[in-house]
Amino acid sequence: MARKIGSRYTAHQILGRGSAGTVWLGEGPEGPVAIKLLREDLASDQELVGRFVQERTALLGLDHPHVVAVRDLVVDGNDLALVMDLVRGTDLRTRLDRERRLSPEAAVAIVADIADGLAAAHAAGVVHRDVKPENILLDMQGPLGPGSSHPALLTDFGVAKLIDTPRRTRATKIIGTPDYLAPEIIEGLPPRASVDIYALATVLYELLAGFTPFGGGHPGAVLRRHVTETVVPLPGIPDELWQLLVQCLAKAPASRLRASELGDRLREQLPHLAGIPPLDVDEPDDEQPEEEPYAEDTTPTPSSTPRRGAVPLVPGSSPDSNRDTHTSMRVPAPDELAGGPLGTARAPRTSAQRRPGTARHKSTTEAVRRRRIKLGAAAIVVAAAVGVGGWLATSGDDASNQPQDTKQSTSTQP
Ligand code: ADP
Repeated sequence: MARKIGSRYTAHQILGRGSAGTVWLGEGPEGPVAIKLLREDLASDQELVGRFVQERTALLGLDHPHVVAVRDLVVDGNDLALVMDLVRGTDLRTRLDRERRLSPEAAVAIVADIADGLAAAHAAGVVHRDVKPENILLDMQGPLGPGSSHPALLTDFGVAKLIDTPRRTRATKIIGTPDYLAPEIIEGLPPRASVDIYALATVLYELLAGFTPFGGGHPGAVLRRHVTETVVPLPGIPDELWQLLVQCLAKAPASRLRASELGDRLREQLPHLAGIPPLDVDEPDDEQPEEEPYAEDTTPTPSSTPRRGAVPLVPGSSPDSNRDTHTSMRVPAPDELAGGPLGTARAPRTSAQRRPGTARHKSTTEAVRRRRIKLGAAAIVVAAAVGVGGWLATSGDDASNQPQDTKQSTSTQP
């Protein structure tokens, strides 16, 4: 079922579907391409079309071995399409789903590639804003590198920003994927380059552990954890790698490394990671009561509460996507960040530490659950008052301390 896209391209078959549209395998004057056809509701939005054309220069200008190049933008009748280099391979989510956890060497090699790609983008004044395994493609035709990993490329540049039009999101909404959102975005600050570092460090943690540091349950609970919780150490992780992760997951954006530094530091570690098997980390117990923070009296079941999802933060409002990306959420007020039952940090354990006969996902009794809700809420009110306040105080400084290459994309793109 071939389909013409503008006068120069033909889309042949669907490669995958994402939140913003469908990606097709296509053909252009210079050979095979990937064509991302934006969703109809986005394509019919005149404001977005204008922005799409405006962003042209920035989107087309990014050329780096670890960034999927955008070759053309097509506005044709009802079609709005990005024409990209075709990457023959798979996305990192698919690999992670298959392998559950990667060896430290493979994980670090992939993340170092993406850090290099981000460094080039940040130097050009472009912030990605939606770094996650779904947006990292593995080029199976490229040479095998450390940890037997193929080259990794970051895709979907500019898409989060395109969708984040003022009318769609206003000043009070968040665009992003809950598990990878930096705390400053949740606090309503503009996304700078350091949000990509936080998201990439989250991806590294996930590749090593098999789960994200602050994910699980209702998106509101995930957002609160980003702001108030400290990342829990992974058993068996080499110390230097752990220090790097902690630094890049810092709540204060200025404490995080720049992308180029992160790439260099990760590559320095590669020789020491050769041969280390995937970490023996068990998923944390999902026994805390956070799955339904707005409805204490219901006992959630694991099957009814997916780990990630485009669930609106405001109960009753509809999500803007059926995928776990670009979730449109209201920015929570400080008291909401502080007040909800959050539960305690989910300490990962090795499988040897798992109690015999303990189910991976278990629901606790209602009495225990309620007691935890009360204890958790009390602890969090205190922790958040200190944590959010302290973080806000430091983040005020961060704006003036931003490195040269971490300008807001809005101020640097045409
Ligand atoms: P998401 O919105 O989940 O990030 P995308 O819309 O970017 O997803 O892509 C959906 C799927 O299409 C990806 O998972 C990937 O398999 C495929 N894809 C995206 N871009 C390319 C590309 N440049 N080359 C090959 N396949 C691609």
